[in-house]
Amino acid sequence: MTDPNPRLPMVEIFQTVEGEGTRAGFPTTFVRVFNCNLRCRWCDTPYSYAPARPEFYATVDEIVQEVRGYPAEHVCLTGGEPLMHGDKSQELIKSLARIEHARDIHIETGGAIHLAPFVALRNQPGPVADKVRFILDYKLPGSGENERMIEENLALIDERDELKFVIADEQDFLKAKEVLQQHRPRAQALFSPVWETMPPDKLVALMLDHQMTHVKLSLQLHKVIWDPDRRGV
Ligand code: SF4
Repeated sequence: MTDPNPRLPMVEIFQTVEGEGTRAGFPTTFVRVFNCNLRCRWCDTPYSYAPARPEFYATVDEIVQEVRGYPAEHVCLTGGEPLMHGDKSQELIKSLARIEHARDIHIETGGAIHLAPFVALRNQPGPVADKVRFILDYKLPGSGENERMIEENLALIDERDELKFVIADEQDFLKAKEVLQQHRPRAQALFSPVWETMPPDKLVALMLDHQMTHVKLSLQLHKVIWDPDRRGV
């Protein structure tokens, strides 16, 4: 039987405003779980996987208790890769969704974990079906992890979800365009520039030149509000 209150390795739980995606700007409680199965070249959270170590361990009940203490209606479950912990990740998702004042639980996943068992949690009517959304971060060649992407995941996400492409250069842009044309995902597509290598105006020009009218530009708000290297914001 699955333990309903498993213990997870954690990095941090804090409140800020959501920096990316369709909910950017909303006050949001971030739950950052330790560990990741990828090593993206431009990763801005290397403290969330080895050789770094977890900041602390917490049971699902302890995590939920802390999240309950923050008033935000939006909760972002992130990492690292928050779905790396299998059944434990599932228990955390179910418990976060039971927090009454949290009406949006969005889960950032790196595209190299099979989403089927997690998406299936929404099949039953209830808080998970009502609140949980997946933000699938499809890794492009510039990340060094494109080969690890599980293409079947693209058909599993729907209109509630978001499909994010972090774009480092023109090759990444063309690959993202190809993925969208090939798979025609139902989730909202977002293009986000790599801060150091893709000036936002260049990405906008590419989007307009290629008539990507259904794609939304997503800038990392927290890098505008705070120092780009500051952690925990
Ligand atoms: S999936 Fe996310 S946390 Fe993991 S290496 Fe890539 S950017 Fe970093």
